[in-house]
Amino acid sequence: MPNCANCGAGLGGRYCPRCGQDSKGPPQNAVGLIGFFTSTVTGLESKAVQSFITLMTRPGRLTRAYIDGQRVRYSSPVQLYLWCTAFFFLVQAISPVVRLDTDAGQVVSSLSAVSIGTELSPETLRRLEDQGTTLPVFAERFDAAVTAYFPILLIALVAAAALMMALQFWGETALTHAVFALHWAAFYFMLEVLRQLLPRLGDWVTPVSVLTTLVAVGYLYAAMRLVYRRGRIGTVVRALLSIIAFAALLGTWLWSTIALAEKIA
Ligand SMILES: [Zn+2]
Repeated sequence: MPNCANCGAGLGGRYCPRCGQDSKGPPQNAVGLIGFFTSTVTGLESKAVQSFITLMTRPGRLTRAYIDGQRVRYSSPVQLYLWCTAFFFLVQAISPVVRLDTDAGQVVSSLSAVSIGTELSPETLRRLEDQGTTLPVFAERFDAAVTAYFPILLIALVAAAALMMALQFWGETALTHAVFALHWAAFYFMLEVLRQLLPRLGDWVTPVSVLTTLVAVGYLYAAMRLVYRRGRIGTVVRALLSIIAFAALLGTWLWSTIALAEKIA
C-alpha cells in the first residue's frame, strides 16, 4: 500500500485516513483539468445553493443535520453565515439599512423587528454646530462608522444569540447553541435583505415589518422545536423573548454607532 503524499500516513483506500487527501490527484492534461475545475466549482456551488435553500425554507433543519453528524452534506455554519452577511453588505451598499436622514436629522434603520428612527440628541446637534459640522458631513462620518462597526455587530449577534439559547435551554451542548445561533443569525440577515427589497409602505410599523417580524418569530419557533424539542408553549415564550432581546441588541448597536460617529473628527 502506498503512503499519503501529503502527510505520509499509510493509505487503506482512496482517501487518506489521517488528513483526508484524495490519493487520486488532479488530472495532468488540459481537457481533464477543465472538467476537474468545472466539477469542483459547480460541486461547491450546488452545495452552497442547497444549504441556502434549506436554511430559508426548513427552520432548524441545517442545525439538526449538523448536530446529528451530517456535516459534509451542507456548507459549514460559519461559511453560510459569512455568505449571508456578505450578501447583506451588498444590499446595504445599494439600499442602506442604516442611514442618517439629513433632512429629519435622525438615524433611520429597518435593522430591527420594528423599524427604528433615532433622533440625534440636542447635545449632539449642539456639538456639531460648535464644530461647524453640517449634517451631510456628519452623515458621511456616520456611514463610515456603520461600516467600521459592522464586523463587531456580526460577531456580537451570534455570541448574543448563542448565549440566549444557552440561558433558555439548559442541558444542551455549547456546540448546539453555537450552530443554532449561526444559522439563526444567517437567516435573520437574509430576512433583513428581503425586508429591504420589499417596498416600504410607511414608516414605523408597516405591514412589511409586521409580516417579517411574524416570519422571524415563526421561523425561530419552528427551528427551536426541531433542534431543542421542548413543549409548544415554552417554545413560543422563548421565541418571543429571543426576538425582543435581539431587537434590543440591534437598537443598542445603533445607538452606540451614533456615539461612535460623534467621536470621529
Ligand atoms: Zn494524509
